Amino acid sequence: MNSIFADAQKRLVDVFKYTELTDDVEETFKHPKLSLCVSLPVRMDDGRLKIFTGYRVQFNDTRGPTKGGIRYHPDVSLDEITSLSFWMTIKCAVMNLPFGGAKGGICVNPKDLSRLELERLSRSYIRGIADIIGPKRDILAPDVYTNATIMGWMADEYTQIKRQQLPGVITGKPVHLNGSLGREYATGRGALHVLQQWLDRKKLQPQNLTVAVQGFGNAGYHFARLAHRVGFNIVGIADSKGAIYSKKGLEPQKVMQHKQEHHDLGTMLYCDGSVCDLQHYQKISSQELLELDVDILVVAALENQIDKDNAGNIMAQIVLEIANGPVTSEADAILEKNGVVVLPDVLANAGGVTVSYFEWVQNRAGYYWVEEKVNARLEKCITREARAIFDLADEKRISLRTAAYLQGVNRIAGAITQQGTREYFLNK
Ligand code: GLU
Repeated sequence: MNSIFADAQKRLVDVFKYTELTDDVEETFKHPKLSLCVSLPVRMDDGRLKIFTGYRVQFNDTRGPTKGGIRYHPDVSLDEITSLSFWMTIKCAVMNLPFGGAKGGICVNPKDLSRLELERLSRSYIRGIADIIGPKRDILAPDVYTNATIMGWMADEYTQIKRQQLPGVITGKPVHLNGSLGREYATGRGALHVLQQWLDRKKLQPQNLTVAVQGFGNAGYHFARLAHRVGFNIVGIADSKGAIYSKKGLEPQKVMQHKQEHHDLGTMLYCDGSVCDLQHYQKISSQELLELDVDILVVAALENQIDKDNAGNIMAQIVLEIANGPVTSEADAILEKNGVVVLPDVLANAGGVTVSYFEWVQNRAGYYWVEEKVNARLEKCITREARAIFDLADEKRISLRTAAYLQGVNRIAGAITQQGTREYFLNK
C-alpha cells in the first residue's frame, strides 16, 4: 500500500521551488517531532478486556502548542495520523494561528461499541496520552466519528488525572462544558466563506450553481445546510452507505432529519440511518456522485477519494476539499490539466481549527463570546487568508494548493529560522 505521508510530502517539492528555504527547514518538515502508539485497555460490556490501538503524533510545534483532532475509524494507522498531523501543521500556519500541528486516532469502528464502551475507550485514550498533552503543549479536538460528547468525556478524564480544571486541553467540547458557541458548524461555515470568496472573484452567483456533497458528517452536513440557505442547489448527497441524487435539488436539513428519524440512533452518538433510505430520490453510488455533472463537488469524507483512476472523470469545475487529503497528488495534476479548480483542504476546512483556537482563547481567558462574535471573527480571519492565497496564486501563476502551502510553509520556515542557529554556521 502507498504511504499517505509520502504522498503528502510530495506537495512540498513543488512548494520549495517557489521559496528560498534553508536546509534546516526542509529537514524539519520530513520528520514528526513525536509519535506515540498506545495500547488502550477497555472493559467491554460482556466483561471481556479488549485492547485497542491508539496514536498521537505531534508533527511540529515551532509556532506554538500542537493542535489537532482525534479520529475513530477502523482504517486508522500511524501513517495516516502522521499525514494528518503534517496537514494540521500547514493548516494552522495558513490561518496564522499560534499553533503547530498534531493528530490522534484510535483504530476502531465506533459503531460496533455501546455508548458506555465508547466512553471507557475515550477515557482510556486520555490516560494513555495524558503525559504528552496539555493546554500549553498539545490540544485535542474532534475529527472523523468523534464529537462534542466524546470531547466532554475526555476533558473530564483529563481533569481527574491532573486534579485541576484545564479546559484548554481540548476544543470542540459541549457548550455547557466550556465549549465555544459556533464551533459545531465552524468547518462547514468556513468552507462556505472560502467558496464564496472564490465565486465572488469569478463573478458567479450561488443560485446558478449545482453542488454534490460527498460526506454527510458534521462538516459535510453543516456545509450543505448553510450553502442551501444562501441559494446553492444541492443536487447530490453521499454518506458512507451510498448516495442520492435529485435534479430539482435536495434539502439537507430534511435529509438529515430523515436519516435520524427513520432509524435507531444506535449508541445515541451516531446516526445509523443513511441518506439512501429516502425513497423518493434517485439512488446512486458514491463513485457516481463524485462523477456527477455538477458545478461544484464537495469532498467532505475521507482522504484519497479522488485519485489517478477517477480524476479524469470529474465533471465539476470546482472541487471544495472539506475532508483532509481527499485528492491525491497524482489526481491533483490530472485535475489541473483538465482545468478543475481545487479549493485546498488546508484553507477550505480550516474554519474548524480556527474556532477551536477561539475556544482555547476563551478557556484561557475565562470569558465567553456571543455566537455573533465567533462567527464574525471566523469570517474575517478565513476570508483574509483566502484572499491572500488567491492573490499569491495569481501573482505566481501556481495552483491554489501550492499557494496555500507556500503561505503556510513561509510562516513556519520563518519561525524555524528565527529559532535556529544555522545562520551562525553560514557566517551570516
Ligand atoms: N479535526 C479538525 C481538522 O482536521 C479540527 C481540528 C481542531 O479543531 O483542532 O481540522
